Amino acid sequence: MDTCGSPPPVKRNRKSPTDNEEDCMGIRAVLSDEYNEIALIKVHSCQLETKQQLQSVIQELSQKLPRLQHLKRVHDRNVLICATSEIGDAETLEEHLQRYAFSAKVLQALCHQVQVVEVPARMPKLRVQYEQMMQHWPCKFHPNHYSESLRNGSNFSISQRVFHKRMAQLLAKLSRDVNKDRPVGICVDPRQSRIVSIAGASESYGLEHCSMLLVDFVARSQQGGALRSELSFVEDQENAETTLRGLPKAYYDYLKENEAYQDLQFGAEMSRKGQPQQQVLLDAEHAQGGDNLCKYGPYLCTGYDVYLLQEPCLMCSMAFVHSRAKRIFFLRPSDNGALVTRFQLHSVKELNHHYEVFQFTTDGSLT
Ligand SMILES: [Zn+2]
Repeated sequence: MDTCGSPPPVKRNRKSPTDNEEDCMGIRAVLSDEYNEIALIKVHSCQLETKQQLQSVIQELSQKLPRLQHLKRVHDRNVLICATSEIGDAETLEEHLQRYAFSAKVLQALCHQVQVVEVPARMPKLRVQYEQMMQHWPCKFHPNHYSESLRNGSNFSISQRVFHKRMAQLLAKLSRDVNKDRPVGICVDPRQSRIVSIAGASESYGLEHCSMLLVDFVARSQQGGALRSELSFVEDQENAETTLRGLPKAYYDYLKENEAYQDLQFGAEMSRKGQPQQQVLLDAEHAQGGDNLCKYGPYLCTGYDVYLLQEPCLMCSMAFVHSRAKRIFFLRPSDNGALVTRFQLHSVKELNHHYEVFQFTTDGSLT
């Protein structure tokens, strides 16, 4: 019901899809395969005839075939020897073991009642995986509170969650009001929740790839940036403590003129190139861990959070790997998305940097 004295209701627009997205938004960690799968490998096992064999068998195995350390080596008198994949095609288990110069006594024990068993391929990350893996073979497990919190959605504090969701709403709003419904990205320094840079997809630079622009605009805040842009950017005032150079004027002015966004913080820490190391004032939340952004100052997207309206493609996702982004949040999946839809780039172990990925959900789960 309208409160007294409020202006007569203006004709209400039907809710746009964007409004619905905002109503029941949650944040879901997109966990890499290691958190989801129960990967098994085939391993040769033998059965000991007597308990007396145990000590010498375990001693020699741990010296000569020390793999499988995430598993309990002995279970019910059954001993794990080695993965079947380690043995060559033209080789028997016995021939394989002979290469490692086991003593005759142990070799005989290892070749008794040999069978192939399926056991966990690696140590579980989550308790739920641990419980399932234990049904195959006893394994080691180091419970990790942060990993569990990512899974159950308790990793963010209430105020962090509010901020992330606000950024998601901002993406939708900036896209609609400033960028003709095209994708938009925001880069934030999470230490003080400051907006470092905003980029919107434009005709002149592939409509899908606003992430590439975002990375480049962040570089502008560090006196870099390789792309020529027709946009005008905010200029810094003399003696400013943070820099606004990564912000196109159109977005900055829109937010500055909009009453609802007066409390937003803008600006990147100044590049420390050629300056002595300075101590940055941190809130308690980010002081721990002493990440590289705190230690060395801004370098590409190191330590920064990235918020995207659309899931990035492979090229853009790789750009965030190269630029060392800390976390990627996105609102809508893309047909060619490389974080959830097509594959999970952040699951690729061989990459030399891994960011965390979060998807805003609109089904009300994990709000
Ligand atoms: Zn792209």
